[in-house]
Amino acid sequence: WAGTEYEWSKDVKRTLENVFKLKSFRPQQLSAINSTLSGQHTIVVMPTGAGKSLCYQLPALVQPGITIVISPLVSLMEDQVRSLTNKNILAKLMTSTSPKEETQAALNLLKDKDTPIKLLYVTPERLAKSKRFMANLQKCHAEGRLQRIAIDEVHCCSQWGHDFRPDYKFLGILSNMFPNVPILGLTATATSHVLTDVQKILNIPGCLVIKSTFNRPNLFYKIVEKPTSQEDCLNILEKLLKYRYKESTGIIYTNSIKDSEEISGGLRKRGLKVGCYHANMEADARSKVHMKWHEKQYQAIVATVAFGMGIDKPDVRFVIHHTISKSMENYYQESGRAGRDGLRAECVTLYRMQDVFKVSTMVFSSVGSLDHLYGMVKYCITGNMCRRKLIAEHFNEDWGSDDCNKMCDVCCNPNSNTREITLEAHCRTLSDILENAEKQDTKLTAQKLLDAWFLKGPVNLRHKGKEPNFSRTLGEDVIAYLLVESYLTEDFHFTAYSTISYIKKGPNIHLVRDPEFTLKMPVRKYT
Ligand code: ADP
Ligand code: ZN
Repeated sequence: WAGTEYEWSKDVKRTLENVFKLKSFRPQQLSAINSTLSGQHTIVVMPTGAGKSLCYQLPALVQPGITIVISPLVSLMEDQVRSLTNKNILAKLMTSTSPKEETQAALNLLKDKDTPIKLLYVTPERLAKSKRFMANLQKCHAEGRLQRIAIDEVHCCSQWGHDFRPDYKFLGILSNMFPNVPILGLTATATSHVLTDVQKILNIPGCLVIKSTFNRPNLFYKIVEKPTSQEDCLNILEKLLKYRYKESTGIIYTNSIKDSEEISGGLRKRGLKVGCYHANMEADARSKVHMKWHEKQYQAIVATVAFGMGIDKPDVRFVIHHTISKSMENYYQESGRAGRDGLRAECVTLYRMQDVFKVSTMVFSSVGSLDHLYGMVKYCITGNMCRRKLIAEHFNEDWGSDDCNKMCDVCCNPNSNTREITLEAHCRTLSDILENAEKQDTKLTAQKLLDAWFLKGPVNLRHKGKEPNFSRTLGEDVIAYLLVESYLTEDFHFTAYSTISYIKKGPNIHLVRDPEFTLKMPVRKYT
C-alpha cells in the first residue's frame, strides 16, 4: 500500500508538507492513508505516540466531505481541534456536556452544504444518544457529503479489551447505516482476539488490518536494583545525571507527588538542575516547568504520570522510572517518550519488590485485577530473556528472529547475567510458613513472609554443590516470581495493605511437594 502511486498521492504529499509541516511519513502511516482513501474499511494498530491521528486528519483534507471522528477522550479531542484550528482547518467538537449553542452550531455546520467543515469530533455517548445528530448525519450521507468515519480507541468495542465501553457497541450499526463510507478504526491494542472481535462488532469482517511494530530499536532497556532508602536512590540518580547523562535531557518518573518533590528537591541540593511536575501544581507553574525543560534549562523533569500529554520533545535521551509503572502498557508509553528523534536513548527502571506491593494496592483498587501490573513485574525480574522480546510478546507481536542488537541489559550480558535456582526447597519453607500462619489465623504481608522466611531458614541452600549467596533481594525476587507465576496470590483488605496466601486452585504451591517437581527461576544479576 505504501509503494504504489495513486491519483491522490501528490495531494497527500503536498498536504503532509504544507499543512502538517512534516517531512515524511512514519512507518505504516502512508499505508493506512492509502487504504482508507481507496475506500477500504481499515483498522490501524500503532503504539501510542506513533502518529495515528494523521491517518484520518490528512485524508480528511484531500477528499471532499466530512470526516466524523469518534473518540472517548475529550481532552485529546480538544487538543486536536485546537491544533487543527491553528492550521486553519475547520474542525468542531461535540460531547454530551458541550453547551447547547455549540452543539447547535456544529449541527448546523453538518447541514450546511456550502461550509467546508472537515472534521467533526464526537464522543460515542453523544452519537449513541442523539437521534437528531444521527438524522443529520444520514442526510449528510444521502447528499454524498460523509467522507469517512474514524473510530479512535476502537478496542473499546470489545469486552476482551482492557477498557470496554458499552457505548461503543452502538457503533456496530454504522457500516450498514452508511454504506460506501469507509470506517477507519485506530488502536494501540494488538491482540488478535480483540481485533477479530472488533471487526465482528463493527460489522466489517475481513477489513484490512495495518499493524506497525512496537519495537523501538533505538531505545536501550535496563533494570537497576533499587535501594531501600531514598537517599541511596538519590545517589544513583545523581550519578546517572552527572556522568552518564551529562549534557542530555530526560524524564524521571515517580509514583507519587511526595516522591516527585523529594527526588527533585534532593537532586537540586546536589547541584543538579531539575524541575518538578505533578497534578497538584497550578497549570501555569506546570507549563513553566515544561518550558524550562524544553529549553534545556532543566536537565531532567521529575514527574508523576501527570506529565505525559503534549510532550513534543524529540531529543529526550533518558526516561528513568524511580518506581515501576502500573502496567506494561503504561511503561511502554512512558518510556517511549525517549528517543523520538531515532537516536539512541535509554530507559532505566529502578526495581525492588516492595514497590510491587506499593503499586498493587493502587492498581487493585482501580482495576480490580493485578494481571497488568504483573506483566510489568515479569519484565523487571526476567533473568534470561531479552527485555525487547518480552515487550514484543506482551503486545502480541511476533518477535521472530528480530535482533535486539544488544540494546538491553540482558542481551548485553547474556551469559554472566543469569543462573537458575531451584525453588523446590524454598517453596516448601514458604508453604510451611503460610500454612502455619493460616492455622493460627494470622495473615502475612509480603514483608512479614520474607522476615519469617529469613528467620526460619535454611535460606542458604546448596546449589549444585556451591553455596549460593542468597540475599534478601533474591528472596524478594523469589516471592515476586511466585506471585507473577500464580503460585502465590495477594489478598486485599479494606485498609491499604495486602497479604499473601496460596492460590487454592490452578498452579498450587503444594505442587512443590511432588518430588518430581522442581520449579526453576532464572535469576538476574543486577549490574
Ligand atoms: P497517537 O494518536 O498514535 O498516540 P499522535 O497522532 O498523537 O499519536 O501523534 C504523536 C506525535 O507524533 C504528534 O506530536 C505528531 O505531531 C507526531 N507525528 C505524527 N506523525 C508524524 C510524522 N510523520 N513525522 C513527525 N512527527 C509526526
Ligand atoms: Zn535484548
